[in-house]
Amino acid sequence: MKTVLSSSTEPCTTVIDGRAVADELLASIRNRVEQESLKPGLAVILVGSDPASSVYVRNKGRSAEACGFLSRQYDLPETASESELLQLIERLNADAEIHGILVQLPLPRQIDQHRVIQAIDPAKDVDGFHYLNVGLLAAGNRDTSLVPCTPLGCLHLIRQQLGDSLSGKHAVVIGRSNIVGKPMANLLLQADCTVSMLHSRSRDPEQLCRQADIVVAAVGIPGLVNSNWIKPGAVVIDVGINRVDQPDGRSRLVGDVDYDDVYPLASAITPVPGGVGPMTIAMLMKNTLDSALRFNNKG
Ligand code: NAD
Repeated sequence: MKTVLSSSTEPCTTVIDGRAVADELLASIRNRVEQESLKPGLAVILVGSDPASSVYVRNKGRSAEACGFLSRQYDLPETASESELLQLIERLNADAEIHGILVQLPLPRQIDQHRVIQAIDPAKDVDGFHYLNVGLLAAGNRDTSLVPCTPLGCLHLIRQQLGDSLSGKHAVVIGRSNIVGKPMANLLLQADCTVSMLHSRSRDPEQLCRQADIVVAAVGIPGLVNSNWIKPGAVVIDVGINRVDQPDGRSRLVGDVDYDDVYPLASAITPVPGGVGPMTIAMLMKNTLDSALRFNNKG
């Protein structure tokens, strides 16, 4: 984590190094695997050959191997049928070597994403998208649930900045998707924050967001959140990953936060890339380890 000292009139801003935090977490997972003499098994299913999805899947496999897991990748053709995929999931549900099953999204049109996710054994649903896990999180039961990896990673980063107790902090979550915004809000609520959710229909979002001690932006609009949205001293977590074209014809990744504008105001901020992204994969490994511990009655 790099702390940047600004001029005397400006606050110190911590640039949160998500890669370093993720590496620490991965090392602790690897240690636990060795201590427990466990072989957690992660199965990742890729349907089709979308380039971005292929990269994500490859990175997940590499991380799993680096953690000492059994890592299996299943590549199905773009034309695979829903029943083919459901049969594979059924086999993996019954496979004692596998503790985590992940179906890389999005899926081709002929396959019903919801049906596929609901077919995964909730105890192996390391993405935390099965309705049973969604319900457990919403009901505040974290003991047996699996929680979506990106919000789990964001919470870890927030706690590193503000300490374990977030009680009474005002958190604003921007975006209400099922994979980031909603589970993020539930996690923060469970951590005793006062939580506000902003979305595409919210009125005067800047004014609401300016009251926040913690801001999590998960929208998909480059640079939406600028300094008008931020209270001085807020912790700003940028989940957005947006590819934008540059004048020289190349493209680069930016977040949902206008980093240069917000940086002088925030007490801590995640960069894009190198902030939340690496934490998502680290939390996938953590979920797979937790699942393997539970299957072995060690969790
Ligand atoms: P989504 O499209 O499913 O949801 C976007 C949400 O933003 C919606 O709920 C919508 O109501 C809200 N929204 C749209 N316009 C808004 C506005 N003007 N003001 C406030 N809210 C608005 O997206 P998602 O899957 O939640 O992803 C959001 C971003 O996070 C994307 O850039 C995605 O690439 C990125 N992402 C990153 C990671 C990671 O590992 N870092 C993981 C998942 C998603």
